Amino acid sequence: MTAESTIDRARLASYQEQLTEWRRDFHRHPELAFEEVRTSGLVADRLREFGLEPETGIGGTGVVAVIESGSSERSIGLRADMDALPIHEQNAFDHKSTCDGKMHACGHDGHTSMLLGAARYLSETRDFDGRVVLIFQPAEEKDGGAREMIRDGLFDRFSIDQVYGMHNLPGTAVGEFALCSGPMMAAIDTFEARVVGIGGHAAFPHGCKDGIVAAAQIVSAWQSIVARNVDPIESAVISTTMIHAGDAFNVLPAVIELGGCVRTFDPNVQDLIQTRLREIGEALCAAHDLTFEFEYNRYYPATVNSAAEVERSARAVSQMGMTVDTEMSPIMGSEDFSFMLQERPGAFVMTGNGPSSGLHTPLYDFNDALLSVGTEYWVTLVQQELASVG
Ligand SMILES: [Zn+2]
Ligand SMILES: [Zn+2]
Repeated sequence: MTAESTIDRARLASYQEQLTEWRRDFHRHPELAFEEVRTSGLVADRLREFGLEPETGIGGTGVVAVIESGSSERSIGLRADMDALPIHEQNAFDHKSTCDGKMHACGHDGHTSMLLGAARYLSETRDFDGRVVLIFQPAEEKDGGAREMIRDGLFDRFSIDQVYGMHNLPGTAVGEFALCSGPMMAAIDTFEARVVGIGGHAAFPHGCKDGIVAAAQIVSAWQSIVARNVDPIESAVISTTMIHAGDAFNVLPAVIELGGCVRTFDPNVQDLIQTRLREIGEALCAAHDLTFEFEYNRYYPATVNSAAEVERSARAVSQMGMTVDTEMSPIMGSEDFSFMLQERPGAFVMTGNGPSSGLHTPLYDFNDALLSVGTEYWVTLVQQELASVG
């Protein structure tokens, strides 16, 4: 056994021009969640060009292809996301979005291209023993494309022992990777509440049931949940992001609508916050003789890496001669790869995108220098995990 990478760097380097072309083409034609028809069509075409037999329409617009080599039953899943965001791009370069109001502002154009690069390399060389399952996922930004692929039988139809994901990280140098064991990205839940009273003339509040005063108290009291109910060692964020009510200076509205989101790492903290949001709303509304209606929606779970797979991911990066921080501080952002990590052990890794504008900003662009780095990571990980035995 050797720890040296066996990757054919000349072959990889010869892909760069094509990878850049694919990436910029995806960037010019962004498609939102579950609308990735052109993107997934091109992905499937490329996979067929590599001699693979992709299955399409999994979880909506998802695509899966399997590359087999040797006789081993071992298998590994590699996942890329394909969707864009409803942002109007402000870049002026040639490959800027051609669709007003849609943009690849999270780099999923690059993620898709890197996995295609790995598909090409692995199908050409077949220098491994086992099965590689390539997962091209729709709708990461919205409505959980990963969950939809799982509901559509991803893990039943395809043998997958362990599953890996990767995301670019602006502000970190290309060639630097980071991840951690356990919860690495937060769960996100959303809530909507209605405070219902009796509207009327603002000069005669005693003839009304005013929800505005109660809603203001509720929003403030919710902030005490993190400060007073959650264990100080744990992390959580409660953000009320929407308050809608009233149309006139002199009319008390009958209904006040509130909405927001909750970020947590620990399911017990998540349960606690869901309970306390409701309890506080109900109690304050009762105090003001109002009705409280509340809906809580668990959106994406926390992204939880398993320790062994973090170590495997880090070993692959080290084999490439690049740096990896395995003690990255968890971040409050969310990622729907979390659904796949609930099904199989695996690891999600961040990989530096250089000094680009931040994710989800109108000046962001995926760094094409990262294309060969990400492709090499996927190939190295496969060759390491599905190394020929003996
Ligand atoms: Zn994003
Ligand atoms: Zn993303």
